[in-house]
Amino acid sequence: MDLMWGPEEEQTLLDAIDNWVEKSVAPIAQEYDQEDKYPHQLVEEMKDLGLFGATISPEYGGLGLPARIYAKIVIKVASVWMAPSGIFNSHLIMAAAIERCGTEEQKRKYLPRMATGELRGGLGLTEPNAGTDLQAIRTVAKREGDHYVINGAKTWITNSLYGDMILLLAKTDPEAQPRHKGMTMFIAEKSEGFIVAKKMKKAGYRAIDTCELVFENYKVPADCVLGGEEGKGFLHAVGGLELGRINVAARGCGIAEGALRLAVRYAQERMTFGKPIAEHQAIQLKLGEMAAKVEASKLLIESAANAYDKGERCDMEAGMAKYFATETGVFCAQEGMRIFGGYSYSVEYDIERFYRDAMLMCIGEGTNEMQRIIIAKQLVARNKI
Ligand SMILES: Cc1cc2nc3c(=O)[nH]c(=O)nc-3n(C[C@H](O)[C@H](O)[C@H](O)COP(=O)(O)OP(=O)(O)OC[C@H]3O[C@@H](n4cnc5c(N)ncnc54)[C@H](O)[C@@H]3O)c2cc1C
Repeated sequence: MDLMWGPEEEQTLLDAIDNWVEKSVAPIAQEYDQEDKYPHQLVEEMKDLGLFGATISPEYGGLGLPARIYAKIVIKVASVWMAPSGIFNSHLIMAAAIERCGTEEQKRKYLPRMATGELRGGLGLTEPNAGTDLQAIRTVAKREGDHYVINGAKTWITNSLYGDMILLLAKTDPEAQPRHKGMTMFIAEKSEGFIVAKKMKKAGYRAIDTCELVFENYKVPADCVLGGEEGKGFLHAVGGLELGRINVAARGCGIAEGALRLAVRYAQERMTFGKPIAEHQAIQLKLGEMAAKVEASKLLIESAANAYDKGERCDMEAGMAKYFATETGVFCAQEGMRIFGGYSYSVEYDIERFYRDAMLMCIGEGTNEMQRIIIAKQLVARNKI
């Protein structure tokens, strides 16, 4: 058991999250999603709850939550509205990379202000031509004296309009072979040349600022190279994927649980042929399968998070949790749509938002195609004949 986070402390924290989600998140979700309006007030409340420092060590001002408790928080938030969980998830992935790979000076400079939410960040990896194949990025950083000059473009970067900085992956040696040896990660604070070109219009995960970025002779001080050493950027990017996958698994599981909750309620309210549809066997089959898959997702997440918290290798476990829980999110949102019948297409009901939000979880933090490949490779590696 984590020394700081015993059962009582955990319950107190989870109750506070439940209370916040019910009072502040649920009432605005559908309106803010429909209007694609950024929930600034939720950001202030997240600061008060300590969410921006959730997984940052107490030494740097954070709550130091183990992954298993953090995942429960994410499930709770996403079960009502997935999008706001992205505001602190991406930020915490950046913080985790600084804590894991940064120099002591970088940790002291950034983590305490990230923990309070004074500085908010995200991840700047993807480019128009490179997502899964990250080593194909074209953004270039050239050393000039005591700084680097960066030119290039990023796309789909969450938290980049209202946040203050991103972890920016660039090529410091575009000719390097293997390609990853020429990649470097920068702690990139906004300044001249860091241009937010466009907030993207999205099918789901609305209200959150996901943007196209352009870097035009953007200058970064040399001491902003993560870990102080060139050529480690790709390793830094993939090194934190396990926690990222547990995060996204939790978001998928939250969507699944929320869709199930809406469906169980609606199935008791809606009458056809003289009885609630919950009494028709076809609907019962759906609810039963949804509920079983939600519970299975939680167990996979818990197993991956426990391994992560113990410092064990858990790429296969995190991959399984990410794959299964996010597919369950899609499954439950779809089944929820069927249970709501025609009303599923009314924006008066939240289920349509769950449907639009669910698919993203299968794509982000390594697509589910890649997860199954990772699982299979690990299976073979761990069971060599
Ligand atoms: C709303 C949203 C928010 C996002 N936020 C961020 C963010 O904050 N920061 C960031 O850096 N990125 C972000 N992304 C980008 C996201 O991480 C990428 O979209 C994702 O990595 C997939 O890359 P891609 O879109 O280029 O797809 P591709 O890499 O082009 O993949 C297309 C298809 O090919 C498959 N595929 C590719 N290679 C292989 C292979 N070797 N074997 C089998 N199948 C393969 C994929 O699984 C997928 O099905 C976001 C994306 C979205 C939609």
